[in-house]
Amino acid sequence: MITVAVANQKGGVGKTTTAINIATALAATGWKVLLIDLDPQGNASTGIGISAGERERSSYDLLIEQASVASCMIPTRIPGLDLIPATVDLSGAEVELVSVADRTSKLRAALAEDAGHEICLIDCPPSLGLLTLNAMTAANSLLVPLQCEFFALEGLSQLLQTVERVQERFNPDLGILGIVLTMYDRRNRLTDQVADDVRSCLHGLVFESVIPRNVRLSEAPSHGLPALIYDHACAGSQAYMKLARELIGRLPERRKAA
Ligand code: ADP
Ligand code: MG
Repeated sequence: MITVAVANQKGGVGKTTTAINIATALAATGWKVLLIDLDPQGNASTGIGISAGERERSSYDLLIEQASVASCMIPTRIPGLDLIPATVDLSGAEVELVSVADRTSKLRAALAEDAGHEICLIDCPPSLGLLTLNAMTAANSLLVPLQCEFFALEGLSQLLQTVERVQERFNPDLGILGIVLTMYDRRNRLTDQVADDVRSCLHGLVFESVIPRNVRLSEAPSHGLPALIYDHACAGSQAYMKLARELIGRLPERRKAA
């Protein structure tokens, strides 16, 4: 299984929106997709239409109880897309993991048993704590949503340092799938300047596709729907479709699920 961690330690940069919509686009293209909500806030779970009452088992059970993927996942209303939701328990997992010997490889161990999906996307919390380290240790690649604002590059270099540490200590196979510029506003000169800086520092790592600031993307979660389904034609959805095509081109060879 290909495992992609969607990470950036900054909050509000578009991780969850990207995870939900890329997961949906991949499922729509026929992939068997598993989306794991690894943020105690549970935004990916809510955004995909799984209410708190429906979350019987969660990513907490996967990490702490070593429950199986099959027993924690819930099918979503999008064919081909299963979700492992997050509950508030997960905020305690970070503390509970501290005293565990293999604390960074819990998620990797749980995912190793799964044969039902071709790709797994992990929506990370806004920190570089043990939850994100678990995602990076489990993943083959990292997808980084980046908002074009003043401190974006500082945050990015801290993130890339963490990636190096994870590569050295826990997961030499971790690669960077790409950086996607989010909430892009063409009328803002600072946006353009940051985008130019990021592209000149990181060359090919930055996806050509850019996600514009688009109100439909921010409305969709309150309807419990991915924007791609809530309003397929809006500029935000079109941008995510384009990103998905570009991203598929960068993925390792697809392996059919059982
Ligand atoms: P993160 O998971 O990094 O915290 P989110 O994906 O939850 O970020 O996005 C933060 C907020 O911004 C959410 O309310 C979301 O609906 C909104 N949002 C995300 N991407 C866009 C966009 N391209 N245009 C407008 N609003 C967006
Ligand atoms: Mg989020």
